[in-house]
Amino acid sequence: MEKIKVLKNYVNGEWVESSSKETVNVYDPATKEVMAEGPLSLKDELNQAAEAAQNAFEDWKNTAVPKRARILFKFQQLLMEHKQELAEIITKENGKSVNESLGEVQRGIENVEFAAGAPSLMMGDSLSSIASNIEGTNYRYPVGVVGGITPFNFPMMVPCWMFPMALATGNTFVMKPSEKTPLLMEKLVELLEASGLPNGVFNVVNGAHDVVDGILENENIKAVSFVGSKPVGEHVYKKGTDNLKRVQALTGAKNHTIILNDADVNQAVKEVIGAAFGSAGERCMAAAVVAVEDGIYDEFVQKLKTESENIKMGHGLDEGVFLGPVIREQNKEKTIHYIEKGEEEGATLLLDGRENLSDDGYFIGPTIFEDVKTNMTIWKDEIFAPLLSIVRVKDLKEGIKTTNESEFANGACLFTDSASSIRYFRENIDAGMLGINLGVPAPMAIFPFSGWKSSFFGSLHTNGKDGVEFYTRKKVVTARHLEPTFSEEE
Ligand code: NAD
Repeated sequence: MEKIKVLKNYVNGEWVESSSKETVNVYDPATKEVMAEGPLSLKDELNQAAEAAQNAFEDWKNTAVPKRARILFKFQQLLMEHKQELAEIITKENGKSVNESLGEVQRGIENVEFAAGAPSLMMGDSLSSIASNIEGTNYRYPVGVVGGITPFNFPMMVPCWMFPMALATGNTFVMKPSEKTPLLMEKLVELLEASGLPNGVFNVVNGAHDVVDGILENENIKAVSFVGSKPVGEHVYKKGTDNLKRVQALTGAKNHTIILNDADVNQAVKEVIGAAFGSAGERCMAAAVVAVEDGIYDEFVQKLKTESENIKMGHGLDEGVFLGPVIREQNKEKTIHYIEKGEEEGATLLLDGRENLSDDGYFIGPTIFEDVKTNMTIWKDEIFAPLLSIVRVKDLKEGIKTTNESEFANGACLFTDSASSIRYFRENIDAGMLGINLGVPAPMAIFPFSGWKSSFFGSLHTNGKDGVEFYTRKKVVTARHLEPTFSEEE
C-alpha cells in the first residue's frame, strides 16, 4: 500500500517535519480518499515560525517597495501559468467544480495584482506649509509579523486576501491554513519561492486550534487576519485584541436575496441557483434565503424547482458537474439534521437533497424549502450547505424588514428593473456587500470585503484601501526648515 504523505511546515525557507504525533486526514470529499495527513503542530512550532518571521522582518521592511512589488509581479505571472493545476488541487481537496476553482484562482490572482501596486498604495501625504517654514509629512510603515488563519472553503482566494498585501507593504507572515484544505498552500509556497521571496518572509504552520491560540498569544505577531465561522472569529477577535494585537475577523453569513415582481425571472433563477448551490453552498456569499414578491412568486418557484432538479452532481473534475460534495461527513449529517428541523418546524420541502445522497463521497443534493418563516431554525442559522429557504413577501419593504432581522449581514441581493427600488434597497438594507441583478456580490480586490453585524469583527476589512490600512502604521514628521544662508554678493 502506498504510504500516505504527511505534510510539513514551511519555516525560514525550509520544509520541516512537525514534531507533533497528532495528525488529521486530508480527504478528497468526492471519493473519501485520504490524500495526505496534516500535522496538528504544537505552539512551540508556531513560535519558531514567528521568530523566523520576526528575524526576516528586519531586512524585508527595508527592502525598497518597488523591489517587493516586483516579486509579486513575478508571483502573479507564475500563478497565471499554473492556473489549471492550482484549480485542480482546489477541486481535489475542497470538492467544488473545476470551473468554480478556476474562478477562485482568478480572484486570488486579482489580489496579487492589487498588492503589486504597493508603491502607489503605500504613499503617504504631506503639506508643505503647516506653519511658517514648517511642513508635515505622513509616511507608511509595515506593522511587523502578521498571522493568518483561513477557512476550508477558499484555500486560494482567502489566503490571497491576506499575505500578498501584507508582504507588499513590508510585513512578514505566518499562515495557518485550514486543516481540511491545506494542500494548495504547498503549491503557493513553491511559486512564492520561485518568485524570489527571501527566506522567512512567508511561513506556514499546519494545525488547528493550538496553532491559532499560539498566533493569538505570540508576542512577535502584531496583527491577525482571520476568516472563518462566527464562534471561532469571536474567540480570535476577543483573545487577539486582549493581547493588544490588531485583529480583523471575517466570519459567518446568511445572505438574503429579494426578488421583485419586475425582475427578469429567468435571470433571477439562473443567478440564485449559482449562488445557492454553487460550491455546494459552502460560500460566505452563498444565497441562503430568497424573499420573493407575491406577483412573481409562483413562476419563480416553479422555474427554480425545475432547473434545480437538472443540476448535475459528481466529482468536480468531471465534465459538466455543477454540484460537488460538502466538505466532510459531519457537514452532510448536519445538513440532513437541518432538513429534518425544517420539516418539523412547518416549512414545506420542495426539493429534498436526501434523495441524492451518495456513499461514494460526502454528497447531498440541492434542497429547497418554501413557506419559511423568520422564527424557524433554517431561516436563522448559517447552514453552509446546498439548502435554500424561500420566503413569500408582499413588497420590497417587507423583504428588507425580514432580511434585517438576521444576525448576519455579509451580502444581500436585489433583482429588479426599478431604479427607485434599487436606491431604497441600498439605503435601507443592513449588509456590507450588495448585488443588483446578480447572485454573488463578492467585491473585486480593489474594494473592501465589507461584512456587517455578526459577519465581521474589527474595523478594517480585508482588501481595498482597508487592507493597506490594516497592514500599515503611520509616522508623521513635523519639520521646521531653517532659512538658507546665501553669499553676500547675491
Ligand atoms: P472554522 O471557523 O471552523 O475554521 C476557520 C479556521 O479556524 C481554521 O483555520 C480552523 O483550523 C480554525 N479553528 C477552528 N476551530 C477552532 C477553535 N475552536 N479554536 C481556534 N481555531 C479554530 O471555519 P470553516 O468551517 O473552515 O469555514 C467556514 C466558515 O467560514 C463559515 O462560517 C463561513 O461563512 C466563513 N467564511 C467567512 C468568510 C467571510 O468573508 N466572512 C469567507 C469565507 C468563509
